[in-house]
Amino acid sequence: MATREEQEAEATRLGAVKNAKFRKSLVDVIKEAGLEGGCPKQQGALLYTVASKFPGNALAHRATLLDYIKAEKIKSNAQLDGALEHLAHVGPGALDAAAFEAAAGVGVVVSAEELAAAVGAAVEAHAARLREERYHANLNILFADVRRALPWADVGEARAELDRQVTAFLGPRTAADDVKPEKKKKKKAAEPKAKAEEAKADTKKEEPAPAADPFAFLPRPEQNNKVHTTVHFSDGRKLAISNTPEQLAAHLRATGGRVVTRFPPEPNGYLHIGHAKAMFIDFGMAAQTGGQCYLRFDDTNPEAEKQEYIDHIQEIVSWMGWTPSAVTYSSDYFAELHAFAVRLIETGNAYVCHQTAEEIKASREARAPSPWRDRPAAESLALFEDMRRGLVDEGAATLRMRMDHRNENYNMFDLIAYRIKFVDHPHAGDAWCVYPSYDFTHCLVDALENVTHSMCTLEFESRRASFFWLLEALGTYKPVVWEYARLNITNNVLSKRRLNRLVTERWVSGWDDPRLLTLAGLRRRGVTPRAINAFCREVGVTRSEGEVHTHKLDHHIRADLDETAPRRLAVLRPLRVRITNLPADHLEQVEALHFPGRAADAYAVPFSAVVYIEASDFREQDEKSFYGLAPGKTVMLRYAYPITCTGVVKDEAGAVVELEATYERDFRGEGKKPPKGVLNWVAQPRPGVEPPTFEARLYDVLFLSQSPASSEKWLEELNPKSLEVLKGAYASPALAAATVGDKYEYVFQLERLGYFCVDPDSTPGSLVLNRTCTLRDSYPK
Ligand code: ATP
Ligand code: MG
Repeated sequence: MATREEQEAEATRLGAVKNAKFRKSLVDVIKEAGLEGGCPKQQGALLYTVASKFPGNALAHRATLLDYIKAEKIKSNAQLDGALEHLAHVGPGALDAAAFEAAAGVGVVVSAEELAAAVGAAVEAHAARLREERYHANLNILFADVRRALPWADVGEARAELDRQVTAFLGPRTAADDVKPEKKKKKKAAEPKAKAEEAKADTKKEEPAPAADPFAFLPRPEQNNKVHTTVHFSDGRKLAISNTPEQLAAHLRATGGRVVTRFPPEPNGYLHIGHAKAMFIDFGMAAQTGGQCYLRFDDTNPEAEKQEYIDHIQEIVSWMGWTPSAVTYSSDYFAELHAFAVRLIETGNAYVCHQTAEEIKASREARAPSPWRDRPAAESLALFEDMRRGLVDEGAATLRMRMDHRNENYNMFDLIAYRIKFVDHPHAGDAWCVYPSYDFTHCLVDALENVTHSMCTLEFESRRASFFWLLEALGTYKPVVWEYARLNITNNVLSKRRLNRLVTERWVSGWDDPRLLTLAGLRRRGVTPRAINAFCREVGVTRSEGEVHTHKLDHHIRADLDETAPRRLAVLRPLRVRITNLPADHLEQVEALHFPGRAADAYAVPFSAVVYIEASDFREQDEKSFYGLAPGKTVMLRYAYPITCTGVVKDEAGAVVELEATYERDFRGEGKKPPKGVLNWVAQPRPGVEPPTFEARLYDVLFLSQSPASSEKWLEELNPKSLEVLKGAYASPALAAATVGDKYEYVFQLERLGYFCVDPDSTPGSLVLNRTCTLRDSYPK
């Protein structure tokens, strides 16, 4: 039976056929296709689309397209859309069959495994919704994901696979699954038509929209045939660089038309939250489009790089929830890169140079050529080979690209392609003593890995010219390059160079110091990947520079932990309160809630004649705005009873050391009003036994100034109070039992005090908690 959408489409078609002009063009198309005798319905629908949407500038190719439809090489709407879009770009120009077929997915066979994997990913991405709504969930949202991932998959097969996996995920339908959701039923039955319509609109609104695609603005892989950049040379020449149809077709053959991205950290330090933004873009786009993303170690500076960083980066990428489709290294391609360099010399596009770094700088400023710029290629080839064999001293020669030394853009000034370094490489070992530069390597490895979208931060924008110049000089495929803004966060620094100084000069305890915005530091502070990724999503795929306020990050941390962190009672700076109307040996258990206001799950908290409250919750002088305890005043002990302060005990120096109070057991009931102030507290778990202690580490911003990175003297702006350690905090027994071994994501909300996680410094019997963040900014520290 036809679906409603199909019926509507049919009605539109019939309507349009009544339009004489359109009717003529439809008849033309049918004739051109040689299908006057009739054809299957789906083919007819495709002909209809051709008649209505065929790009006027490409009429020369209409017959070719119709041949594909007739031969059933183009069978689906998605294929036809791809074909039409391709033809619109080609216009009246020559048609490259391979590129055309790639754009229309001709002959692409989607394997059962690929389909199962894409459907599996969609089910996983929407698992929460499926669990909640079960068979009432709108599967079109999942289906849209599958179609995005595998646009050429057979629609019927994809539907069947989706149904199969959803059933496997949910288990067989139960009787409850067959009951229509109550709300809709009631409203429809009881309300007049207008209201029922309204109700329909409401339920529509309630349905969350499918996750917005932040990458929709980027061209698809098959659209990568536009001009990437036009290099303007100093002699007036212009070079418009784009993929040739052959380059694009070969690329699409290699990738099957899928999106390929890479996240390319240099293993010279730990990753920070800026890299989380980069990962959100690189891995995120691949995930969104059903493509793949490599984790590529961009390891061309052996001195700065270490295996420790390589290991850490792999681990933290996975902690962030990303699964690279493969882990690659720029150094894996050293042989190919060397061959490219040789080809560059042979074609007159590179030369061996003996200028020192200072001489290069001076001649760059004077826009003067290197004296070796025009030496014969054969001479450069021989010297480059000597360099490779270790016969030339470090610094005595480099290989430079022969670009345009008078260009206004410094990045066209004969950049260095290779330099000599007599050091071993953490990944390539001692195989090489010449190493390619970043400028030479990055774009070529993008081309070698068939990257479709090479995304990087804005400071690379000025290097577009050199990026594409090199790929053009070597005749390779060129990815789409797109730049986004570096993430900066107030009151902190993100560059690895600065982080490295903070760590090596011991301003902080290590790369995972919770005050740093390294991912390891955030993890140790109790921040989850969920919160970091939600923050990145909000920051977005932006090109606008500037600092994001640290409050924005805190907001996402709180939103996440509010959902997941069970509540516990503790006191950071205890003040003893003796309850005088309880027998000294009194002990009872009161019920506290894991998630008050949300669920009834409870745990027991001992209440006895000696309790501790926060020292800051007592004042000898009461004030209207103060909700704590004061002489004669009554406050509520959370989950327990109200107490009234009846006495203050001081030491010889006049400091308050203990309070006396009475409690009231029957405080509920008619005419009784519980006090406004509610305090966190911890009691002696058994009479005469002090509560278990823990160490609380409280953090504040690492830098006092908002933009420390903009100052030369940034280290002088460190906040001397960024860490406060309280050794004698008291825990309620449920908190003291926190599992020490389970060091990550073990986060609690200590009521009124903030979110805290178990620090890995904890040992059995000696708990250390880090404050992840306060409950709100205004709460006193
Ligand atoms: P740093 O200056 O911190 O050393 P980097 O650019 O040298 O950074 P890489 O390891 O080369 O660091 O970066 C890997 C990827 O992460 C690159 O694509 C880079 O552009 C991106 N990236 C680095 N820092 C940030 C940031 N603050 N915001 C967004 N992306 C970033
Ligand atoms: Mg770098």
